[in-house]
Amino acid sequence: MALYGAVEGGGTKFVCAVGGGPSDRLATARIPTTTPAETLPRVRRFLLDAAAQVGQPLTAIGIATFGPIELDRQSPRYGYMLPTPKPGWSGAPVVATITAGLDLPVAVDTDVNGAALAEYRWGAAQGYDPALYVTVGTGIGGGVVIGGAPLHGLLHPEMGHIAVPRARDAAGNRDEFAGICPFHGDCMEGMAAGGALAARAGRPADDLAPDDPVWELEAHYLAAGLAQHILVLSPQRIVLGGGVLQQAHLLPRIHAALRDQLRSYIVRPQVDADVSSYVVKPHFGDEAGLAGAFALAMSAAGSA
Ligand code: ADP
Ligand code: ZN
Repeated sequence: MALYGAVEGGGTKFVCAVGGGPSDRLATARIPTTTPAETLPRVRRFLLDAAAQVGQPLTAIGIATFGPIELDRQSPRYGYMLPTPKPGWSGAPVVATITAGLDLPVAVDTDVNGAALAEYRWGAAQGYDPALYVTVGTGIGGGVVIGGAPLHGLLHPEMGHIAVPRARDAAGNRDEFAGICPFHGDCMEGMAAGGALAARAGRPADDLAPDDPVWELEAHYLAAGLAQHILVLSPQRIVLGGGVLQQAHLLPRIHAALRDQLRSYIVRPQVDADVSSYVVKPHFGDEAGLAGAFALAMSAAGSA
């Protein structure tokens, strides 16, 4: 049996697992994201120790991580972090440190591309190609599987940073919230990520009541972003995850806003009457990234 090492790199923790797949985990660890020099060797140590305990060498390693990260295998900087606002992590040798001294197939991708791949292979977007995964958490990110493989392109998609039209209230007054993206101000992430909700409301998104007026604005901006993703990528299914979507009332609001904004231009029931089975929750919940890391490891090993 193959034994995979899976690593989901996040802004607050690295979740690592060893096993035969996402539903066959033999060991799991959560390692805090401090400095690269501290965190990354701990990830490597865990993978090796866990494999030793199982009594079998690792077949391959998959890493699904926050970014931006260099994904060009021809680049000498493959698997290195690119300039990132996360202090200390710009230029961090993520893949090189985790795989130091190991002669193993390895694949790295963004956390959201990994999540998209896992949801496409085994989850809520199984068999739907293109499959789009969007997360609304501390930030907003998207990954897409096209032709069975995650899209990289020039670098990798940065779907949270698209421009979104301002909401207007019933009287036509424009929403004047400045947005919080350090690069663009009022991009989708700047208007609708967890931090944007908190900045708008003056308290954490977790504490907002379901009938708080910010949720209609939130649904507007998320639908506005998704509408553009739909128009550009023509996904067959969209999986929408992240901490903010834990508000159960939000997804139906997004469905309604999306139907309204697309204005029946795309002649498919998925973006009209059937929108609730088109934009769906992740099968893997908050473990979509870790499942993605397994999917990447299997791809690296050539077994999927
Ligand atoms: P991350 O994006 O850091 O990987 P999450 O996807 O959990 O992590 O997103 C964290 C964000 O989600 C925070 O902004 C937090 O306020 C928000 N969040 C978490 N739980 C809830 C909740 N139940 N309701 C609304 N917002 C939430
Ligand atoms: Zn932005």
